Amino acid sequence: MTRRQGMFLGLISTIFTLGALAVGAPYLGVEFLLRRNSPIVSSAKPVLIRGRWADDYFVVENIDEGTFAIGEPRYYQGNYSYLLVGRARALLFDAGTGSRDIVPVVRSLTALPVTVIPSHLHFDHVGALGRFERTALLDLPELRARADGGRLTLQRYEFLGFGDDLPPPRFAVDEWWADGARIDLGGRSVQVLATPGHTLSSVSLLDREHRLLLAGDFLYPGPLYAFVPGASRARYLATTRQLLRLLDPATRILTAHMAEDPAGARAPLMECEDLRALEHTLLAIDTGRATSTGWFPRIYPVRGAMTFAIGFAWNGR
Ligand SMILES: [Zn+2]
Repeated sequence: MTRRQGMFLGLISTIFTLGALAVGAPYLGVEFLLRRNSPIVSSAKPVLIRGRWADDYFVVENIDEGTFAIGEPRYYQGNYSYLLVGRARALLFDAGTGSRDIVPVVRSLTALPVTVIPSHLHFDHVGALGRFERTALLDLPELRARADGGRLTLQRYEFLGFGDDLPPPRFAVDEWWADGARIDLGGRSVQVLATPGHTLSSVSLLDREHRLLLAGDFLYPGPLYAFVPGASRARYLATTRQLLRLLDPATRILTAHMAEDPAGARAPLMECEDLRALEHTLLAIDTGRATSTGWFPRIYPVRGAMTFAIGFAWNGR
């Protein structure tokens, strides 16, 4: 090989490597950014602004009649799951982080059969999937096609459990809930809403009568992760607009990660104004009018503690 040919090959491989890094940034990004540098469970118990301790780890907060927030404020991501109790059955939205067993807490709140549905399939929302009477998932053809014999194994970049050293789980799916389906709990019903944005298979539950939306990781008082594999800014914007059209403006939005509030812990409650602010930020990002901090991810302010975190401009469109 001549020197000129060697330089040419070197240049080609450098361009190829840089291209692969840029396109693969969401995958590389989560491999590095999701590695914890704090313990999974803190030794200190935070002060509770709302709710009561169910044991030394879980907190329970009554949102209204038959609606309970079950929090894990000592878990480093401060997750909250939600239990809706009807007359015939109960519905658990998110299955806990799995760092402690959420099953006894749920059983202490209802004797009814429980159906569990995760807001999405990341590791911090699927802890007790398969541990209740029934497990439901959003009915998406690509998920159904992978469920051989009714059991689904999560994939590495769908689950993202490497930060907590968790292997992807395998669990039985008993019910596939279509976008828009009404789920009857006996004297109470919720509507299933596909809310892609954070992930493709993200789902929310709308209880119109109680004016409650359970929104998972679509919205919460912290950095919204739109740099992870499967996240999409276009879908985030479309879902935000769909929710703004659909929701009574007085709807309380219960979300999955609590605020880092020095005053203490409570269920992360948000409102339609937060959705409006998110729409505003997403439009400003699209038109290049928004200013960000950081490099990867780039962080855009939204409202209060809520920010929007994206990868490179060409990732996660
Ligand atoms: Zn989460």
